[in-house]
Amino acid sequence: MLRAEGGRPLTGFMRAKALNQVKQYYAKMREVADKVTETEVKLSLPEQRTPDGRRFSIEGVVDIVKEDDEIVMYDIKTHQPEMIRDNQELYAEQLNVYAYIYQTLRGNQLDETAIICTSFPSSLDEALKSQNAARITREFMQWNSVISIPFDQEGVDRMIENFGKVIDRIETKDFAPPQLDRLREKFGEGRGVFANKICRQCDARFSCESYRAFARQRYGRGFDFRRFFAEDRDENEQEDWITGNLG
Ligand code: SF4
Repeated sequence: MLRAEGGRPLTGFMRAKALNQVKQYYAKMREVADKVTETEVKLSLPEQRTPDGRRFSIEGVVDIVKEDDEIVMYDIKTHQPEMIRDNQELYAEQLNVYAYIYQTLRGNQLDETAIICTSFPSSLDEALKSQNAARITREFMQWNSVISIPFDQEGVDRMIENFGKVIDRIETKDFAPPQLDRLREKFGEGRGVFANKICRQCDARFSCESYRAFARQRYGRGFDFRRFFAEDRDENEQEDWITGNLG
C-alpha cells in the first residue's frame, strides 16, 4: 500500500522496518483501535491570516473514542514517545487548536486529548535487534504509546498567530538549518542528540548541509549507504517512477 500510495518503490530495508513496526503497533494498540467510534475526523479552521496578510487554513485529522459518556480525541503521530514527552508543549499547541475546533466551533463534548505514537521507543528497537525474548517482553510492557495531554484553549489565539508567523517565514524563505554543533548537542530528556532525535524524522536530511556533515563525521567513509538505496526491483519500475514524477 505504501508503494501504491507514494507512487515510488521502497527499499527492502524500509519494507522490513515498516512491517515490523506495524506488527508491534497492532499488538500494542489493538485494544484502543477496537474502541474507536469515529476515525479520520477532519477538522479545519479556514480563512486565517498571517501577520503579513497571507491567507491560510489549519487542517488536521483525529480519531474519536466515546466510552462510558467520556469522549477522548486522539491525534496519531509517527514520532517516538520520548520525542513527544520531551517536547510536549509543541504537541499541546496543535492539539489545543484541534480541541478548539471540535469543542468550541462544532459544539461537541470533549473530555480528554491524547497523542498516540505509532513509532516504538528506541529501547524496544534495541531489544528486537538483540533477539532476547525476555528483554523484548520487558520493553514491550514498558512501552506507553498513549500520551495524555491536557487541553487548554486559553492560548488558542496565540497559537494560531504562531502558525501564521511560521507560514510567513516559510513563504519568504527566512529559515536555515542549525549549525553542526547543534546537531551534536544532547536533546531533551534521556540519551540522544539533536541529529538522532529530530533529524532522523526529517525528510530534508539528505539535502541538508548540517546533517550531511554530521553523517560524514559519524559514519565516516566506510559506512555502506547502499543498503538504504538497494532494491530488488526491475528497471521498468524505476523508469515508471521517474516518468510519473516528471509529469
Ligand atoms: S536534517 Fe532537517 S531537522 Fe536536521 S538540521 Fe537539517 S533541516 Fe533541520
